[in-house]
Amino acid sequence: MAKSTPSILLIYTGGTIGMMQDVRTGELKPFNFKALTKQIPELEKFDIELSSISFKHPIDSSNMHPRVWIELATIIKDNYAKYDGFVILHGSDTMSYTASALSFMLENLAKPVILTGSQLPIGIIRTDGKENLITAIEIAAAQKNNKPIVTEVCIYFEYKLHRGNRTYKYNSAHFDAFKSPNYPALAEAGVNIQYNQTALLKPSKKALSVHTQLENDIAVLKLFPGLSKKITLSILNTAGIKAVIIETFGAGNASTEEWFIQALKTAIDKGVIIYNVTQCAEGKVIQGMYETSSQLKKIGVVSGFDITFESAIAKLMYVLGKKVSFAKSKQLLETNLRGEITV
Ligand code: ASP
Repeated sequence: MAKSTPSILLIYTGGTIGMMQDVRTGELKPFNFKALTKQIPELEKFDIELSSISFKHPIDSSNMHPRVWIELATIIKDNYAKYDGFVILHGSDTMSYTASALSFMLENLAKPVILTGSQLPIGIIRTDGKENLITAIEIAAAQKNNKPIVTEVCIYFEYKLHRGNRTYKYNSAHFDAFKSPNYPALAEAGVNIQYNQTALLKPSKKALSVHTQLENDIAVLKLFPGLSKKITLSILNTAGIKAVIIETFGAGNASTEEWFIQALKTAIDKGVIIYNVTQCAEGKVIQGMYETSSQLKKIGVVSGFDITFESAIAKLMYVLGKKVSFAKSKQLLETNLRGEITV
């Protein structure tokens, strides 16, 4: 079969990559996408059919919201048959949340969805945006035997391709801004782009199924020595709350004080999901390893295993959006759905 020119859809949401400095205030603000492509004439040299969609009002990704994730998933769904791959330009601040959310929303993905951005605007001489964008497009277009090499939602940043739902932004000042502490890089870009074939997800043979029901009645209770009963109860008793992430110590450990365990148990008995995610960047929750987590397991706290905080938020929104029973939600959360956890 003759190799056809790959077609890529570039979706511009905003972020530093496309920002310009306001001469009056000095603030960085998103600017028009057409100006972005003008800054990278190299794009014309690609043997790739490049199309683009730009958000009418590009955003700083700190203004990201689940309704924008729905918009992005819908753009991909509507254009899925037309393109071989997708590149999303996005601010780095919440890129890991968006990548995680899209990974759950796009079930049975068989094409690449690569998010990228930059730490310096594209118009600045030392920008990291050009390399990030050019290589992200190359990865989205990469094929072997006429099939895409990458078939999952990823983040490409500073020479590394990571599974999106395994990442978090760990540095606001370095070009190397993302880490994937519990899963190896999917590819590294040097002179050549080296793919880690065994780490990549296998493409699904089923048709793409796009989920756009997300539920955000979620809270986070970060544990620290001295966390008060009053604050804990006020969070757990919030009207309409459906799930609470408890950010625990080490391997998923928490205080064994009776009031604390009782407060969690009362919430669980009312149908609130309590989701155990460790404060450690690396390693995993093992409920029952220490006495300080055995009680949590006994009362029905859901284990997050080695999920990132960002992915835990996205997975909860996705699972709650399904409106299934408490038992089914717990089962889904403790199942590896998109390569986000090692069970
Ligand atoms: N504040 C910016 C954003 O996330 C930072 C960046 O793009 O890297 O939109």
